[in-house]
Amino acid sequence: MRKEQWCVAVPRQEAERTRRRLLEEGLLDRGFKPRSEGDAILLPVTEEVDGAVRCEFEAVPERVELPRHELVGGIAVMQDDDPEAARRLLSSRPSLHTVLFPESPVEGEYRTRRFAVLAGVPATRTRVTEYGLHFDVDLALAYFSARLSTERQRILEAMEEGERVLDMFAGVGPFTIILARRAALVVAADLNPAAVHLLVHNVALNRAGNVIPMLGDAGHLDRLGFALFDRVVMNLPLAAPQFLATAARLCRDGGTIHLYALEEREGEYLPLIRAVTRGEVTERQVRTYSPGKWHAVYDITVEK
Ligand code: SAM
Repeated sequence: MRKEQWCVAVPRQEAERTRRRLLEEGLLDRGFKPRSEGDAILLPVTEEVDGAVRCEFEAVPERVELPRHELVGGIAVMQDDDPEAARRLLSSRPSLHTVLFPESPVEGEYRTRRFAVLAGVPATRTRVTEYGLHFDVDLALAYFSARLSTERQRILEAMEEGERVLDMFAGVGPFTIILARRAALVVAADLNPAAVHLLVHNVALNRAGNVIPMLGDAGHLDRLGFALFDRVVMNLPLAAPQFLATAARLCRDGGTIHLYALEEREGEYLPLIRAVTRGEVTERQVRTYSPGKWHAVYDITVEK
């Protein structure tokens, strides 16, 4: 919006010095954007100072304080149950259709949460785009975290072309479909029927013809007679360590297991890992879970 305002006109080369002086004297009007006219720069001022003239300026849009939130496609998940802030958030971002507040922690075998709708369309389903791939997710029905996107790229970059990959706890398929770009084949399992439904949908959405989705318990995967895998992804931080022996049986000598685990002590799972392989292990912190607890990833080279 343009508005008439007092300003001083200064030659371009003096503009920065004058701007600073006006700022120090509290005379620069920060509600408007300075602009150029011919060789001069027009600096908006708060009162009729010496030599001031009236000019039109564009108002600087007021900065809206936004509440803390996490974006998942067109949904914002807020940390506070504050409908007023949710409405502000919704109107500040045209890409948003819904603002949710989690009414439970991530819980149960399916690792899902219950949500209340704070603003916008009452929906928990949305489309997420990550590095050019699309994922339809339903936050109330199946786990999804946008925060793992860097981790998925890290693993993709570590891969050789044409690997055979097993995603033991695939959810709606973000690791699966991203790694499928470089893999020859990805077998993707999950126990949650709603997650596998979305996984199948996302495989089709991204035309990932080298993915085999499966509904089932990862604990049974070593009974199916698969040829051994080059890489196994185990993203079920609360319980994945229980499946490590199965993963090691399914991974070839020299292959890699990425074990995600929730821990309170560095190296907490090393003894368990040592019970299945003597291969090289590196450990990294992925993100904080709660005070004193964090998600770690162990990259394990399987030695048979
Ligand atoms: N990898 C996915 C991602 O990054 O979005 C999903 C990770 S989520 C933390 C773990 C998933 O494991 C959930 O979708 C849950 O349904 C599934 N799950 C839990 N126990 C399982 C089991 N025994 N076998 C297969 N999947 C299981």
